[in-house]
Amino acid sequence: MSHKITISTRDNHQFEFYCNDKQNVQDAAEAANLYPPFGCKSGVCGACLGTCKTGNYQLDSYSDEVLSADAAKNGDVLLCCAIPESDLQITLPYDAECIQQTLSAPRDAEIISIEKIAERTFKVVLQLQDDPEVGLAFDFEPGQFVELEIPNLDLMRAYSLSNTPNWEGRLEFLIRLQPNGKFSNFLQQTAIGQHILVHAPSGGFVINKQSANPRCFIAGGTGLSPFLSILSRMAEWAENHPTHLFLGVNNEAEILCQQELTMLQQSLPHLTVEICVWKPEDNWKGFIGTPVDAFKAHLEKNGSATDVYLCGPSILVEVSTQAALEAGVNKEHIYSERFVSS
Ligand SMILES: Cc1cc2nc3c(=O)[nH]c(=O)nc-3n(C[C@H](O)[C@H](O)[C@H](O)COP(=O)(O)OP(=O)(O)OC[C@H]3O[C@@H](n4cnc5c(N)ncnc54)[C@H](O)[C@@H]3O)c2cc1C
Repeated sequence: MSHKITISTRDNHQFEFYCNDKQNVQDAAEAANLYPPFGCKSGVCGACLGTCKTGNYQLDSYSDEVLSADAAKNGDVLLCCAIPESDLQITLPYDAECIQQTLSAPRDAEIISIEKIAERTFKVVLQLQDDPEVGLAFDFEPGQFVELEIPNLDLMRAYSLSNTPNWEGRLEFLIRLQPNGKFSNFLQQTAIGQHILVHAPSGGFVINKQSANPRCFIAGGTGLSPFLSILSRMAEWAENHPTHLFLGVNNEAEILCQQELTMLQQSLPHLTVEICVWKPEDNWKGFIGTPVDAFKAHLEKNGSATDVYLCGPSILVEVSTQAALEAGVNKEHIYSERFVSS
């Protein structure tokens, strides 16, 4: 039996397609040449999160790290796990430009730099190889991620881009090493010049351009990556939007990209940056505590009419979302990307 699925984007575009009762909504969308942002396609990464407004469905198994019981009760769904039992109307928390109509093939790239920039944290730079059709260009929206694949190791992981689209084919990433992580081990044993496959950009963690609200960015560690891309784009376009960035790290050794942030502040006079150190060791003069503590204090002082963007470990996203909702921030104006492990 086939059901009509209507998906509506944040900027009020609608797409319709049909899905049978043995198929998930993501697969059905792709069969209709629509590619809403996706990642693992197994209910783990949360990249295909939406909210079902009307209709009945079953959810295949998923990780409660990306879809809590409460959120599921309120209609939040992962498209890759949702099997319709009736027609469905689903809203998506990003604009129509994030839904691709074709999926470009993975591109070959060479690792040209791996630099330690903080405790357990590396900046990795890739150089795309020339493509007969598009040359070196690689188009993406600041805030999006790509899957990086090491074919001979059968290994694929998602990483957010930290620079902006460019014609030179240069892609930058901030990567935190995880103990015994497969990609983390690969990086530590990798020599410059190694080749890697870069999949098509994906993800809906992009700026809500229709909103005139001030922006709060809350990053945990390398969760700073998409914000660097977004802020660089704001600087390139001389966007004068009041923006407050809260960057959380465990200790001073983990502080990353301070110089880049100072330079961005020079181009963006309405950007404030608060580095929040949870357990400082030395004479740290800045904020002591988590970025959620700093964010809560900011909301108390400045009110809740703000757009909130959260990126990093699941726990940070969870606690910050709760704090924002309790302070009265509109749920529709809270956007997040969770750096969960696949
Ligand atoms: C959309 C998306 C974007 C992402 N972007 C970035 C990014 O820009 N920068 C970045 O550093 N990471 C990012 N990640 C996380 C990244 O994809 C990997 O999960 C991470 O690098 C670990 O991969 P690994 O192969 O080294 O570890 P795995 O082999 O996947 O894991 C090995 C072990 O480490 C544990 N582990 C893995 N990750 C964590 C964690 N976060 N906390 C605690 N334990 C963990 C696992 O439980 C496991 O026991 C992103 C994830 C998603 C879904």
